[in-house]
Amino acid sequence: MFERDSGVLMDSELICLRREFHRYPETGGLEYRTTARIIDELEKLGLPVQYGSSVHTDEKLFIRASEEESEFCINRAREEGARPDLLDAMRGGYTGCVAVIEGAKPGPTIGIRVDIDALTIQETSEPSHAPAAEDFVSVHENCMHACGHDAHAAIGVGVAKLLCANRDSLCGKVILIFQPGEELLLGAGSMTAAGVVSQCDYLFGVHVGLQSLPVGTVAASVTGFLAIHRFDAIFRGEASHAGGAPEKGRNALAAAATATVNMLAIPRHHEGSSRINVGEFIAGTGRNVIPDKAFLSIETRGASTAINKYMADRAECICRAAADMYECQIETVFMGSCNSAACDTELVAETVRILSHVDGVERVITDFDFGASEDIVTMFDEVQARGGQATELIIGMPLVAPHHNDHFDIDERVIGIGARCLAQLALGIGAKGSLNY
Ligand SMILES: [Zn+2]
Repeated sequence: MFERDSGVLMDSELICLRREFHRYPETGGLEYRTTARIIDELEKLGLPVQYGSSVHTDEKLFIRASEEESEFCINRAREEGARPDLLDAMRGGYTGCVAVIEGAKPGPTIGIRVDIDALTIQETSEPSHAPAAEDFVSVHENCMHACGHDAHAAIGVGVAKLLCANRDSLCGKVILIFQPGEELLLGAGSMTAAGVVSQCDYLFGVHVGLQSLPVGTVAASVTGFLAIHRFDAIFRGEASHAGGAPEKGRNALAAAATATVNMLAIPRHHEGSSRINVGEFIAGTGRNVIPDKAFLSIETRGASTAINKYMADRAECICRAAADMYECQIETVFMGSCNSAACDTELVAETVRILSHVDGVERVITDFDFGASEDIVTMFDEVQARGGQATELIIGMPLVAPHHNDHFDIDERVIGIGARCLAQLALGIGAKGSLNY
C-alpha cells in the first residue's frame, strides 16, 4: 500500500510541519495560524475544506478568550504569515477545519479526528530539550504544545496526503476533522452540533504517548475515558471596613474557602474512581476590606458518566450552601463537559487486524488505560447513537517528560506511523465494507 508515496519524504515533510506548529502554538479557540496553515496544506492537495462558522455551533462554542485577546492572536497570526482571508473567516473563535476526501469507489463514511490546540505553559529553553536545541521552541510566551497536538495536526495532514495519493483504492469517503479547543472541551461539542460527524459510520481518534511505550507499539483502543464536568463559581458578598464595621460585610472569600475545603471532602463513590480539583481561587481587594468577590474554577471527573454527575452535583450543591452560610450570592458558569465512553469491540478487532500490517507498527495492543478525559467522546456519543462505531488509537513512544510539562517532547517517528495507521484504516475499513455497513 501507499506505493505512490515516498514514505521517507512524506515523514520529513510532516516533521517540518510539526516543528512549525510547535514553534507557533495557540490555545483553544485561538488556533488561527495553526488552522490557516492546515488549510494551506489541504488546499494544496486540491481538497475542499470547510472552516469558519460553518463547522461550529454558537450555543456550544464556549469562547474563553476576550475579543482583545482574539484580535491580538489574529494580528499575530497575520504577521506570522497566515492568509488574511482565512483569518477573517475564523474571527470570533471559529478555528479548526474539516476536509472531505472522496474515494473512487462507494463505501462507508469514515471520520478521522485530530486535535490541534496547545496549553498555557512556558516551554523550557534548556538545551537538553530538543525543540530548544534544534531551534523550534515556542516563540509564544506562556504557550506550548505539551500534549503532542502539534504531532496530531501533522498526522492529520499526513493522512490527507496518503489518501489523496491512494484515492483510487479508497472506498467511501473520509471526513478529516482538525478540531480546536480539546484542552478546554470547547471544540468537539461545537463541531458535533454543527453535524461534522453525523454522516460517519466509523470514527477514529488518535493520541500520541500518554504512557511510555516503545515506538512501534500502537493501541487499537483505550479504556478509562474519564467523564468530566467543569464550572466556575463566582461568589458575591458585600465589602465593608474590616476594623470599623466587619459585621456589615458579607465575606465572599470565606464562602469560597468553605466551599473549597468541603468540595475536596466529597465522599467518593463506591462504583469507581473520581476526581475533583479546585484549580483557581481568586478573591479579595485589600487587607482591611471584607472581601466582596471570590472566583473558583472547578472540575470533577468520574470513571463513568454517572459517577462524574454525582461529583458535579455535590460540588455545585456545596458551592450554593457555602454561599448561603455567608449570605453571599452565587453564580455558577458551565465551562464544558464530556461523558465517559467505550470503544466498539467489533471495530477494535478490525482495527487490530489492519494495523498489524502497517509499516512501522511492531505490536498492536488493546488494553490501554487512557486515564484522562478527551472531548472526542462527544463525537463518539453522536456516532454511536446513530449506530456507528468508534475507537481511539494511541501511537506509542517513550516519554522524556510527562504530558502537560514544560519539558514534554515527542519522538517524531510517531508522526509518520500515526498517519500511516489512520490512512490504512480508512482504506481497510472501506474495502471490507462489511462492518454493519
Ligand atoms: Zn492531549
